Amino acid sequence: MKTPSYDWRCHSCGETNAAGTGRCTSCGFPAFAPGRKIVAAVRERESTDATAPVSATHASQDDLDWAFLFPEVIFAVAVILAFPFWFLSLLHEASYRSALALALLVSSGVGLGWWAWRIENKWVLYAGIVLVLLGAAVAI
Ligand SMILES: [Zn+2]
Repeated sequence: MKTPSYDWRCHSCGETNAAGTGRCTSCGFPAFAPGRKIVAAVRERESTDATAPVSATHASQDDLDWAFLFPEVIFAVAVILAFPFWFLSLLHEASYRSALALALLVSSGVGLGWWAWRIENKWVLYAGIVLVLLGAAVAI
């Protein structure tokens, strides 16, 4: 196992460990860990540290945070569902600029949304929704 040549602080519990130790003496967390493991360890520590009332507040705030996506997300889904027909009818009407703008904005919005899903970031998701709606606004 790789060991640091310097004193290091545990990512998981915050314990200071001597150089040459590969794992935390307090909790066993490795000195070198992938970023997502560190993030998971820190999150777990925060959730165990938090007292019950505080975590209850957190939960309700999380619900509120997601609620701000409505009703935009509904419009965005409607735009995405209508997109193929809308795109074709714009082409049919020879509105190539609108068709192109719609296609670009909707596809980048969907791309952002997919990425947001992977990194579980609601702000990125919101940006994706805004792009899709922008595409609709431009095409109307
Ligand atoms: Zn530790």
